[in-house]
Amino acid sequence: MVSAIVLAAGSGSRMRLKTAKQFISVGEYPLIYYALKTFEASIVDEIIVVTRKEDIEYLKKEIVERYHFTKVRRIVAGGKERYDSVENGIKACDKRNKIIMIHDGARPFITNKMILDSISATRRYKACTVAMPVKDTIKVVDNAGFGVSTPDRSTLYQIQTPQTFDRDLLLEAYDRLRASGDRDITDDTMIVERYIDQKVKIIEGSYENIKVTTPEDLLVAKALLKSR
Ligand code: C5P
Repeated sequence: MVSAIVLAAGSGSRMRLKTAKQFISVGEYPLIYYALKTFEASIVDEIIVVTRKEDIEYLKKEIVERYHFTKVRRIVAGGKERYDSVENGIKACDKRNKIIMIHDGARPFITNKMILDSISATRRYKACTVAMPVKDTIKVVDNAGFGVSTPDRSTLYQIQTPQTFDRDLLLEAYDRLRASGDRDITDDTMIVERYIDQKVKIIEGSYENIKVTTPEDLLVAKALLKSR
């Protein structure tokens, strides 16, 4: 039994547009449509969408009802940081679902295979994320703008979503995050690694599984859609 949380409560400021990023058209449909469609057709039991408070009504009428996304059980308001939004999503999940999958709504090219692989890996390892090996050399840079070190590229992966967890493990990790007061969190795998000492299994994502963040990503997303 699986809950999928789809995050769409970011400000989208790096897109430099007036319309919220999740609602801009990419090809025929709004950006958020694509991930929701893949989840709707998958084996997940429910979808929780997290969006900005002022967008809840719009998302309900113009996306969920319009495109008949019947698995969307609740649409809840996000928070200031990504992890605040995730926490609100977790609270809205059906407690009977023992697996929680978290996905950036800004990643339209999630596939059914990623969802299935993530569920099997979570049954076995309790925590997993899709990811891909980095293509570029990565450097650690100091405050003055000089390179300090160059990690061995063969050990580096770029982390994507979906990220999937055993429900109890994730809840415990979030409790400990809150108790710590830390704020330097960029994704959920980091939270379970840091506070539970839980190893996260890396499974294969795709180079097409981009996060649409800046205007050039939008061009890439449109090109990828056309090529399908
Ligand atoms: O900001 P970032 O690129 O890491 O955002 C990744 C995803 O998290 C996006 O889909 C965005 O809408 C979502 N997000 C959110 N609430 C926030 C910040 C980001 O739901 N406060």
